Amino acid sequence: MERRVFLKGAGLFLMAGLASGQAPGRSPRGVNGGGFYRFQVGGITAFVLSDGQSAPGPLLPNWGANPELQEAFRRTLEAHFLNPEATRNNFNPLLLDTGPARLLVDTGRGVASGGRLLEHLALAGYAPEEITHVFLTHGHPDHIGGLVDGEGRPVFPRAELLMGEVDLDYWLKNPSAAVTRALVPFRERIRPVRDGEEVLPGVRAVASYGHTPGHMSLEVLSQGRRLFVFGDAAGHYLLSLRFPQAYLGFDMDREQVVRTRARLFAKVAEERSLITAYHFPWPSLGYIRRAGEGYEFLPAFFEF
Ligand SMILES: [Zn+2]
Repeated sequence: MERRVFLKGAGLFLMAGLASGQAPGRSPRGVNGGGFYRFQVGGITAFVLSDGQSAPGPLLPNWGANPELQEAFRRTLEAHFLNPEATRNNFNPLLLDTGPARLLVDTGRGVASGGRLLEHLALAGYAPEEITHVFLTHGHPDHIGGLVDGEGRPVFPRAELLMGEVDLDYWLKNPSAAVTRALVPFRERIRPVRDGEEVLPGVRAVASYGHTPGHMSLEVLSQGRRLFVFGDAAGHYLLSLRFPQAYLGFDMDREQVVRTRARLFAKVAEERSLITAYHFPWPSLGYIRRAGEGYEFLPAFFEF
């Protein structure tokens, strides 16, 4: 028995040695993923790019804030093997490469706040200088923080900045610390975008107000393939879908966000559109379908 355990251990040690290969520049052993997930939307190459995850923390009441539903939320989370007291939050910016243009949707928290977007952008094979457009779904710090580095310099120096005109107007009039640091210095460079406007060929802005006053999502259509980019308009992948009346602690207009979610969930379910949402579980790609009173999220089949 002792000998068998010893041999097994030696075998594992040898396999691990071979796997690591001692080659410089390799990923450390046992680290999951490369932080990006590449897929195709017709003729557009897309990447979900992780900005990393938060430390585990309580889900309630931030991710399901309705006071009368706290117990139902808790039971639902537990039934889906999520610990209401200690779950990580995901941050999932998106890159759309149309060939001539490379559009980044949201910029993560910023390196100074632990953001890993740039690290994963490099692993996906892109330099920050290659980004031609940055689209900001809204003005919250975890979406705009990555626009500037620790010294306040622009991280994407060549990119045209795009943001929904209603949200841009709101945040410039009501600047948070993150807005003062990341948006205000570039206010002359930001092009305001209207509902329905085509920001690139095949990529259209869709008003999804409520999470913030002028939150914008994106609809991508290429060669008959669809992708809907929710930003924060989808909320929590379980609670916001299952409970049609649910709202987040971070939602600024709770009645409006409930109406927005109802409209958009119905649309993508009807269209059978592929979707991505900023805080859904990595790699945040899948489908939404009707289930009971509400909806459910079905992850897309993972392809290497
Ligand atoms: Zn967010």
